[in-house]
Amino acid sequence: MIFVTLGTGVGGGVIAGGRLLHGVNGGAGELGHITVQPNGYLCTCGKRGCLEQYSSATGIVHVAKDMAAEFTGKSRLKELFDNHEDVTSKMVVYLADNGDILANRIIDRVSFYLGLALANCANTLNPANIIIGGGVSAAGNTLLGPTTRYFQENTFPAVRDSTRIKLAQLGNDAGAIGAASLALRFDSAH
Ligand SMILES: [Zn+2]
Repeated sequence: MIFVTLGTGVGGGVIAGGRLLHGVNGGAGELGHITVQPNGYLCTCGKRGCLEQYSSATGIVHVAKDMAAEFTGKSRLKELFDNHEDVTSKMVVYLADNGDILANRIIDRVSFYLGLALANCANTLNPANIIIGGGVSAAGNTLLGPTTRYFQENTFPAVRDSTRIKLAQLGNDAGAIGAASLALRFDSAH
């Protein structure tokens, strides 16, 4: 399985054969630094166009700000930016759920990047499940729907027909449970 957590950043993990993959230098499963937009937003890692800069809570606000600047139609979200309000990713989701055209376009763009990144992970690994967690996953089907659509568009049939995308269910306990399971694994191996 692959886990991706959408919070202030984007984290991830790949579990194969019951074990978390670490890679040769601890970098395995760092989904947040998959390039989704060549020459895109500058990331904290030093390169450009990382998923983290588009699909995290802060990434969504960055995308929203840029799209609002170009948007000429009527939108409550655009008004908020124009009035220099502190816009959060939660507000973007809320407004999208309530029919704001700009907010819906932003969610669509963000979902495209997420779906594309997850599709390429799945094209490589064909996991049974991809689990989306973290605070942003509270957006539920608003995010899951379009993300699944873009995921399907960008996967090849064997993967599209078998890998499933789901929302996480352990909430804020996921990190603690994962850390404990790693400790148990370490203990049994030594
Ligand atoms: Zn990065």
